[in-house]
Amino acid sequence: MKDTARHAPVGAMEGDTITAISTATGKAGIGIVRLSGPEAFAIAERIFKPVTGKVYRPQDNRKLRFGWIVDDAGVRVDEVLVSFMKGPHTYTAEDIVEINAHGGAVSVRRILQLTLSHGARLADRGEFTRRAFLNGRMDLAQAEAVLDVIDAKTTKAHEQAVAQLSGRLSGAIAALKRDTLDLLARIEYAINFMEDAQEELPVQPMIESAEFIASRMKQLIDSSDRGRLVREGISTVIVGKPNVGKSSLLNALLDDNRAIVTDIPGTTRDAIEESYNLDGVQLRLIDTAGIRETEDIVEAMGVDRSRDLAARADLILALFDGASGCDASDDELFEELKHREVIYIMNKGDLPRSPSAEAFEARVCAASPQAQWVHISAREHQGLDQLQSAIMKRFFEEDLISDSEVTVTNVRHAQLLRDARADLLSCIDALRMGVALDACEVDLRSCYRQLGEITGEVMDDDILNKIFHDFCIGK
Ligand code: GDP
Repeated sequence: MKDTARHAPVGAMEGDTITAISTATGKAGIGIVRLSGPEAFAIAERIFKPVTGKVYRPQDNRKLRFGWIVDDAGVRVDEVLVSFMKGPHTYTAEDIVEINAHGGAVSVRRILQLTLSHGARLADRGEFTRRAFLNGRMDLAQAEAVLDVIDAKTTKAHEQAVAQLSGRLSGAIAALKRDTLDLLARIEYAINFMEDAQEELPVQPMIESAEFIASRMKQLIDSSDRGRLVREGISTVIVGKPNVGKSSLLNALLDDNRAIVTDIPGTTRDAIEESYNLDGVQLRLIDTAGIRETEDIVEAMGVDRSRDLAARADLILALFDGASGCDASDDELFEELKHREVIYIMNKGDLPRSPSAEAFEARVCAASPQAQWVHISAREHQGLDQLQSAIMKRFFEEDLISDSEVTVTNVRHAQLLRDARADLLSCIDALRMGVALDACEVDLRSCYRQLGEITGEVMDDDILNKIFHDFCIGK
């Protein structure tokens, strides 16, 4: 089986030059308008007047040139530095021009407008990176890493994204593909020559090779939970009956840390998310309306949603009142949570402990010996360090990311790896049971294709659209 041509040929976008403001909007020292495509140089030449008066010469490639952007009437729009970068050794592998203008809302917008009126088209979301991928400058896993680098909110997430951008995952996938292809070649050889010859098939070495590939896939799949948590943060819901101190705990954690405030998409009045950097990982605290039965219909909607959020959370902090004590509703909450990822917290440790709270803690420990208890006082900010290290230990036993380890961070990649491994396991079963080799070949081809989807050799437009839709315009 041949490895299919990696990407569309260079020049697939011929005739189409895209433009966008590539820097964030708002007041800033500089703002950049970027052009890419066959007309990029020509368009820039029409609106850029270098102080030297000279038009672009080959020796100007990649050099910053100083001058003015002028409109069609010859009126100066802004003082700029412009770099002309000849393809294919550019971000998109096409000709690129970057116009460094002053930041702020107006300069870059007027320059963008000029590039549009001179024939460029406004770039779609992520279209520069999409072109970089289509033109073979980077593979799909690396293109996806570009988005992760931009989106990273903590250093660990950033490090992970940079590792992927530099091709660490791609290298691991390439090795898996190579070995799968090698195995496929052996099976095809056996199909073509050995069966006719009625010889004994050397099945055992094939099984061993397949098992070796499957075990490496498993390592990658196993890294994906951690990888995702580093990339997206640990979504955490605090639950407990009214007045146990949920808001106090949330505030105590946020007061002690610099908060990153974000909205949870799709929620309105009843849940906000505030997060902070816990040892390089984002702890995303979701503040809910509280899990409890309620008569009020509007509140009930909030409660449904908080149940839903709790159901999807990576971690639940279940809070109990150590001073007023625990009752049947706490037992119900425990029943509801006992199969989830929970840390049990006894709050109000600054006050004398109620016997009913002690009895409750003992009941939980008896029913669920793995249950982890932390004692705190949210009001006095006591025990928060122990709570935070309990959270980190729960998810990251060893070092977060070791230098040599390849981490899968993206759910798309993890799913493709799972599918590829399932194909491989089915191939191993077939080999063991002595099923006709054609069936193994089908499994292996499918395995190979799934691996190829990770790096983008096999890809349909719908998936590409979905991936690049999350990018911003200008990237
Ligand atoms: P929620 O309804 O679960 O969000 O509970 P709140 O955070 O609003 O707290 C309810 C009451 O308990 C408030 O009066 C808090 O001041 C008090 N409280 C919360 N945590 C503590 C604590 O650790 N010690 C003491 N003594 N009171 C607390």
